[in-house]
Amino acid sequence: MGILNHLAAQLALIRKISIRNHQTTMSRRIHARRTEGVDKNVWVEFTQLAAEYKAVNLGQGFPDFSPPQFITEAFCKAVSGGPPMHQYTRAFGHPALVQSLAKFFSRIVGHDIDPFEDILVTVGAYQALFCAFQALIDEGDEVIIVEPFFDCYQPMVVMAGGKAVYVPLRPKEGTAVLSSGDWVLSAEELASKITPHTKAIVINTPNNPLGKVYKREELQMIADLCIKHDLLCFSDEVYEWLTYDGAKHVKIASLPGMWERTVTIGSGGKTFSATGWKVGWAMGSGHILKYMKTIHQNSIYHCATAAQEAVAQGFEREHELFGTPQSYFQQLPAMLHHRREKLASSLKGVGLQPIMPEGGYFMITDISSIAVDFKDSDTKDENYDFRFVKWLIKEKGLATIPVSAFYSPEHSKEFDKYIRFCFVKENSTLDAAEEILKKWSQNESSH
Ligand code: PMP
Ligand code: GLN
Repeated sequence: MGILNHLAAQLALIRKISIRNHQTTMSRRIHARRTEGVDKNVWVEFTQLAAEYKAVNLGQGFPDFSPPQFITEAFCKAVSGGPPMHQYTRAFGHPALVQSLAKFFSRIVGHDIDPFEDILVTVGAYQALFCAFQALIDEGDEVIIVEPFFDCYQPMVVMAGGKAVYVPLRPKEGTAVLSSGDWVLSAEELASKITPHTKAIVINTPNNPLGKVYKREELQMIADLCIKHDLLCFSDEVYEWLTYDGAKHVKIASLPGMWERTVTIGSGGKTFSATGWKVGWAMGSGHILKYMKTIHQNSIYHCATAAQEAVAQGFEREHELFGTPQSYFQQLPAMLHHRREKLASSLKGVGLQPIMPEGGYFMITDISSIAVDFKDSDTKDENYDFRFVKWLIKEKGLATIPVSAFYSPEHSKEFDKYIRFCFVKENSTLDAAEEILKKWSQNESSH
């Protein structure tokens, strides 16, 4: 909380300075057009609000507990590892990291990954996504995005000059929708969105915010369309180790004919519970990756050396322990399985029906049954879930994220009755959230 308060104070200061700077206006248009329409950001807005109101934070997706000891020790060792650890390393990825990623993922993808050709280390998965869109999408290209989607895909397509085209995951009809697996993608609907301008399909499995883990058959259907129409696939797999109830994560790049056309995106932050390190990567055939490297070398150049070294050591360890109970890739989902159950039971306890995620660390719930009298007239033009979450933070001290933020501007109004809870949190944080929910529901029933 200390860091968040500090952050809130810094932000307030920056706001004051920027208001002052506005007084010296220039007569010409300052901004580049690509900044238009992409200025709102749910993380910026709600992280600040949660900090301002000192809310119990089940909003932004980051662990509020320490990363595992082996990875923090690896980081400390790197930092005290002599001068080279503090200087530039190879632009496209620290050699130790690309080698350990290649070794680790070759056996999973079933393809010999060349550490120096087929991998680009990036500043988090965010920059891997940014490089993919900048390097591979031209003006006028269409990019198909499956809704709901991690919010940055849409502005990144727009900033590249492309056109985002959406295809929804829809709740299965005629059954109670209790699990993320009940949300499905129609092959016909997806196929109907493909035009001669389509360049790529973006998928995210396990999905944020829903927690859907795509089944092999679903991925095969997407792969068949990519191959038939000669499309690229951007597969965001930052939660790849977090699956529950026997759901299996499958890499679309491992399906026949897909390695050659898929960019797989991963995150050291999500993998080792250290989101602030911002080490990510893109993996795929060198003939695609080379264009992403061009964007990277001319923008970021490279990422923090010591953090890359530590993530490399983490993957070396996981390579040794793969499939054993000591592997963090088994321990983290086992722990989160409990947290998922705990959060679900808190929600059910106050009459909210969660959609159980098969993967990831988020859970969404329908809030349409809750009647709230919003007094805040400033927010009256906003989507219902945005108003609801603001009210929840300000009036009840609990931060979550509105799910319509994960829908396109065109469709967000239709999906504004869900909110997202994050459960990669200490038990004590989940307990505090439960207390708030309980108190609230008791107050409601006594009225
Ligand atoms: N993709 C998804 C689906 C995410 O949830 C996130 C947020 N962590 C990212 C990409 C960005 O990851 P990173 O923090 O490694 O930049
Ligand atoms: N990926 C994280 C989430 O979905 C956080 C992203 C961010 O803070 N920009 O909560």
